[in-house]
Amino acid sequence: MAARILSILGPVYTGSTMLSGLLHGLPGVMSIGEIHHYYTGQFGCSLCGPSKKCPVLSLLSTKKLGDGKRLYEQLAEVGSELGFDIVTNSDKSIDTVMSHVPAGVADGIIMFKSPEAYIASFIRHGQATSEGRDILESIPKWFQYIRAWSRSHMRRVAYVEYEQLAGQPEETFTRLCAALDLPKPALPLVFPPEKPWHNVAGNTDAYYGVSHGPRSIYLDDRWKTELPRELQAHIATFEPVQRLLAELRRLAV
Ligand SMILES: [Zn+2]
Repeated sequence: MAARILSILGPVYTGSTMLSGLLHGLPGVMSIGEIHHYYTGQFGCSLCGPSKKCPVLSLLSTKKLGDGKRLYEQLAEVGSELGFDIVTNSDKSIDTVMSHVPAGVADGIIMFKSPEAYIASFIRHGQATSEGRDILESIPKWFQYIRAWSRSHMRRVAYVEYEQLAGQPEETFTRLCAALDLPKPALPLVFPPEKPWHNVAGNTDAYYGVSHGPRSIYLDDRWKTELPRELQAHIATFEPVQRLLAELRRLAV
């Protein structure tokens, strides 16, 4: 039987690599990361490097796409052949997920974080203009799109807020696992996971522990010192985003 598919959805820079690692730490779960990047040739396995050396990617590359088989179905077969019950990906991009996952078979996790932290990430990575205001204005439309799509295509969806997950990781992650019928996590949580983690792409900061040993999960709130006060005030009073945020928080585990 093919493994269950679990897709992490949500915008970039919302902690999906951290969540992938926590999920990978669960018994029977394999997190593969942003697998679509493997097919663009941009990334190999973070652990093994080139795909030929990687037990997961080399097995995946023996599978043929086409004949109605989509990438995530192949991934589910690979996961099952390697002895896993659940395979998670963190492709995030809804267009990617849409083209690779068949309707009605996968569960989704929609991640979100405070607009201040989100905009600060964009500015830090040199991807925001107009002092972040264009990013701010795009947030409600983006969530409207992903929520409408996930309601019609995912089997079920759980919402998780980055600040909750990073601030109270054990409580929040335990609630998330219960919401999606995932195995109960062993506490305290260990990050990065102790079992080998064959992961494609993702936030390199999150791999720090792979070479430096386990570290605690911490809340990144650098936005408090990085974002200009004026922009912070603008975000705090930008009604469409604050209304959305309140609604997402009501839905969150
Ligand atoms: Zn590997």
